[in-house]
Amino acid sequence: MLIFEDIFFDYLTFRDFNFNEHLAEGIQSMGYQTPTPIQEMAIPLIMEGKDLIACAQTGTGKTASYLLPVLHKIAEANEGHKTTALILAPTRELAQQIDQQAEGLAYFTGLSSIAIYGGTDGIVYEQQRRGIQNKVDILIGTPGRLIAHLQSGVLKLDHIKYLVLDEADRMLDMGFLGDIMRIIRDVPHNRQTLLFSATMPAPIRKLAGSILKNPEQINLATSQPAEGINQQIYKVHNEQKTKLVIKLLKEGSYASTIIFANTKDEVKKLSRELKSAHVKSSAFHSDFEQTEREQILLDFKNRELPVIIGTDALSRGIDVEGIDLVINYDVPADPEDYIHRIGRTARAESTGTAITLVNERDNRKLKNIEQLIGRSVMEMPLPPEIGEAPEFKEHKSFKKRRNNNRNKFRNKKGSHKGGNKPAQAGDAENK
Ligand code: AMP
Repeated sequence: MLIFEDIFFDYLTFRDFNFNEHLAEGIQSMGYQTPTPIQEMAIPLIMEGKDLIACAQTGTGKTASYLLPVLHKIAEANEGHKTTALILAPTRELAQQIDQQAEGLAYFTGLSSIAIYGGTDGIVYEQQRRGIQNKVDILIGTPGRLIAHLQSGVLKLDHIKYLVLDEADRMLDMGFLGDIMRIIRDVPHNRQTLLFSATMPAPIRKLAGSILKNPEQINLATSQPAEGINQQIYKVHNEQKTKLVIKLLKEGSYASTIIFANTKDEVKKLSRELKSAHVKSSAFHSDFEQTEREQILLDFKNRELPVIIGTDALSRGIDVEGIDLVINYDVPADPEDYIHRIGRTARAESTGTAITLVNERDNRKLKNIEQLIGRSVMEMPLPPEIGEAPEFKEHKSFKKRRNNNRNKFRNKKGSHKGGNKPAQAGDAENK
């Protein structure tokens, strides 16, 4: 329990958590000043030993909200050379990012971690195998690869005390439920379990019901983009999109930009077009080898590569500070994906811009997004050199419904007055 004796402090600092002193050094060296809202809520509960189900998106500081109390407990227990924490993550990129945060935070504690993920060559598999045998304190892994190491007999989970499921909704979307349950079978029953998910659909609640014990629940206002994101749209014809993107990139002062497109083919095409317009950029997709993908991300992180182009697979994983522009080359079909995409900018309370290009066909999807975020997105005028912006016609089903209502109203009016009223001026436009 946190006790506020000092009336002069009306907000929490990391010192209020009384973390292990070496961990506190790590927090300082990572440059974290004040806990984010999810950290304020989750850390005390996890310190108390509670199971937890937390609805929080990436970009809110959720990773540190479980890493910090878990690292604290392991550091204080000082049991030495046993793997006591297991973190399950959907993708290798997320597993690597969790590992990097764990390494940074635990730097002065002497605790160790390793990320275990698939899609690698034999050398990496062997490195992972040896890493597991060295009994790191924290194991972070994608379910498929963990199963492979469990089945080979190398991985034993007998000493796990802390089990974390990160981005549980994504893991279920990717079909990992069976693998998760198989892994949990090997984890001791007597453990603390923490489940983090960006959304809470019924299958997640069901999973939580079967693996958590009397969990506390935290619901961090979900599906809302960070305050610091300046969201804009441009209405465009398809053939205007690339021209506009090139103009925005060449004339804006953006150091780091991510462009999202809906398909891999579109990503490749746009990448070719940007290259021939001399915009320094790279595509990022599954056709690249793992090492190439890592190199692209590294160049992007190091600011050597200013523009990266990818599909939604990139929106969940990437954790790069200071991305100042996100461009949606097309509107994502799932409004939640819009939130994830634009959440790559304005992370941890900084600011950024998110620009979405909307053609007539995608206008419906934009309306769904606006409904989810509860407001309309600011429309920017198309620069004259890009050409004339399209006028969107009203969506058919909406128009049909509106006309039906008008007709009903007219019929009613007609029947009151005895019917057979001649057509009114303006009726023709409704046909
Ligand atoms: P996450 O939501 O866990 O993906 O974290 C988003 C980013 O915020 C990561 O780059 C973290 O290193 C960073 N971060 C986490 N907690 C804090 C904090 N309290 N202050 C500043 N940055 C933070």
